[in-house]
Amino acid sequence: MPKPSSRIAGIIPSGKDGWEVHFSAMMRKQAGEDIIMLSVGDHDFDTPSETVEACVTAVRSGFHHYTMLPGLPRLRQAMARLSTRCTGVETSADEVIATPGGQLALYAAVQAVVDPGDHAIVVAPYYATYPGTFRAAGADFTVVEAEAADGFEPRADAIAAALLPNTRAILINTPNNPTGAVYSRKTLEGIADLCIRNDLWLLSDEVYWTLGGGEHISPRSLPGMAERTLVINSMSKSHGMTGWRIGWLTGPASMIQLLISLNLVTTYGLTDFVSRAAIEALENDYGVADIAALYAARRSVLLDGIHGSNGFVVRGSAGGMYVMLDIRAIEPDCEKFAFALLDAEKVSVMPGSSFGDAAAGHIRISLCQPDEVLREAAQRIVRFASGYG
Ligand code: PLP
Repeated sequence: MPKPSSRIAGIIPSGKDGWEVHFSAMMRKQAGEDIIMLSVGDHDFDTPSETVEACVTAVRSGFHHYTMLPGLPRLRQAMARLSTRCTGVETSADEVIATPGGQLALYAAVQAVVDPGDHAIVVAPYYATYPGTFRAAGADFTVVEAEAADGFEPRADAIAAALLPNTRAILINTPNNPTGAVYSRKTLEGIADLCIRNDLWLLSDEVYWTLGGGEHISPRSLPGMAERTLVINSMSKSHGMTGWRIGWLTGPASMIQLLISLNLVTTYGLTDFVSRAAIEALENDYGVADIAALYAARRSVLLDGIHGSNGFVVRGSAGGMYVMLDIRAIEPDCEKFAFALLDAEKVSVMPGSSFGDAAAGHIRISLCQPDEVLREAAQRIVRFASGYG
């Protein structure tokens, strides 16, 4: 075949993306092994039935056509209403653009703020697609680690030390995947101050905002930040809609207007009947409170099962769909630990090193299984650690 573009070949340059344990577990599960999958962030339950019914009605009602590039007007209004709640800033429909999933909102945000050769700062531990999203835009980036000892909250002075003359943006994620850390107001104020003083964009991934376990603070609400913040939102986690591919980006109306051209050349608007179901789900908050309560309860179940055993230390882990466990007292090499745990106890978790250096020596445990499975997994993890070495 002719040579692919270096841009496409460079999105995941090593061909290794840190998901080897997960893929190996998937293959073994498909081959019939009884493996507890705690390595992926997808709900174990179906989308709320009201949303499903709304979609079925929309399909039957002939909503089969092209929609509108930035999203249907009522969809944008419903998204804006959620953005107002999420960010604490009164948001209008022309300040949001609908995208197929948070991932495309992230892609759009990055495309919108960097030119090829520009530089950005990505705070780690990070969601695994972040580096590739910057590479796809031809941008350089520096990873700034939020340390385990700080509960995985980043320090503004560490970010400041990584600034270059061509830095255009900082990307953060709170509540955080993989750590579950929920950034404090002080942390966000420090980052906001940097953005204002250096005229930077802040890309704020808030797809887990309903699963934060407390008050959600969006940096968009801080003084001077609404004009330089792009918020990545999604219905995947909050509304139980991962496979529906629906999310949105919130930002200044003039930037959203520019982004309509990106939808023109990529998605050409969202799926019609999915948009109609999303409107119902957003206007009625289908599933939101139940899903948040479910993950809070599951976090307690898992932590109770692991509590106090074998030198494990739980870091961050106030929100999101995951628990981050420091395993360094048992084994410093988290990839080795994760593979050995899979072999010995048939539990699949993600090695923290897949999410940046600061999370090395940790494992990320997903809460996307029912209570009884999490209890069983905790027992297996504790048993494995007791006999380790
Ligand atoms: N951002 C974070 C932090 C995530 O964890 C995910 C998915 O797991 C996404 C964005 C993308 O979510 P989606 O494209 O399903 O909305």
